[in-house]
Amino acid sequence: MADVDFSKLPHTPMYICQETLLEKNLQLLDRVQKESGAKVILALKGFAMWSTFDLVGHYLQGCTASGLHEAKLAREKMNKEVHTYSPAFKEDEIDEIARISNDIVFNSPAQFHRYYDRVKAINPNLTVSLRVNPEYSSSPVDLYNPCGVYSRLGTTIANFDESLLDKLDGLNFHALCEQNVDALEGVLEAFESKFGSYIDGLKYVNFGGGHHITRVDYDVDRLIEVIRAFKARHNDITIYLEPGEAVGWQTGPLVASVLDVMHNAMNIAILDTSAEAHMPDTLAMPYRAMIRGSGEAGEKAHTYRLGGNTCLAGDIMGDYSFDAPLQVGDKIIFEDQIHYTFVKNTTFNGIKLPSIALWTKDDRLKIVHEFGYEDYKNRLS
Ligand SMILES: *Cc1c(COP(=O)(O)O)cnc(C)c1O
Repeated sequence: MADVDFSKLPHTPMYICQETLLEKNLQLLDRVQKESGAKVILALKGFAMWSTFDLVGHYLQGCTASGLHEAKLAREKMNKEVHTYSPAFKEDEIDEIARISNDIVFNSPAQFHRYYDRVKAINPNLTVSLRVNPEYSSSPVDLYNPCGVYSRLGTTIANFDESLLDKLDGLNFHALCEQNVDALEGVLEAFESKFGSYIDGLKYVNFGGGHHITRVDYDVDRLIEVIRAFKARHNDITIYLEPGEAVGWQTGPLVASVLDVMHNAMNIAILDTSAEAHMPDTLAMPYRAMIRGSGEAGEKAHTYRLGGNTCLAGDIMGDYSFDAPLQVGDKIIFEDQIHYTFVKNTTFNGIKLPSIALWTKDDRLKIVHEFGYEDYKNRLS
């Protein structure tokens, strides 16, 4: 990881996406494209920092959107392929979605039948697909398991409707979350055993997201083999992967400052950020964010509970230890805070949203957006 000096930022909190690290991820994803023949598109749900989309679009084929707003952003800021899926499309949005998308993915046969003629009339070049549920779940967390019991995401084989086969261009599944290629192989086995007989008349199969391709221990060569073998079994059919997290994975920190230090049976530091508002998956997943230079509680000489600057009692990042006592003004660098963070942020408690910045390839800090009172106010009346 490039060790940039974040101690001289003009203000905090700030997300800083490091262009070099982002490009490294994109180059690895591009290797997957080149060596496997698959197309990779960015899932905006996990990473939508559109000031980087010239760079992203240089390597990837476009975006996958989860509805009208993401589709508009994809068309406006990357303007390559736009694939739009929604658990259910709305009457008052579907026409615009059809106009700006290349591909629409319906979640159920009912939605497919409701909108198929309408979207094809608006955009005859549109490809139309169905999301299926392979009912294979190895996802580590229920909150992020699209194939769990009673899942609303995708059509199970029992609910499949063969009458739409002659209109169908593709099948999509999305069944993984931060997983390696062995999990994909399990999903593919379930997918092909259930839906395999429908594949050969199609233009493409979309393997969804959750492939943790850019994580150091991901077996990229095996992924390439698996995709090539799938294509070989199915007339060289086009394959899409649509990772979100893998694009933004380890591309930069959230930098915060210590505002106060106190003691209540243990040492506590209050930061100018919030787990609840700015690092939501640390509470939802939950997981412990890494802090540069820190250790587990008790591992180094000075242990603190780090808390956010909101009134929520549970707005806590965790317990961390440091070599030296924390002082007001010290910078706390939360690693890997570029995906699934500012796409989910809230202005809860009126807390200021962190600025969004780019650390450019030529080692300059470029602050892309600063937020203020208006961003809070405009969402409330
Ligand atoms: C969330 C999601 C993705 C991206 O998942 P990552 O875990 O960020 O790679 C892709 N496709 C669909 C349908 C999704 O819901």
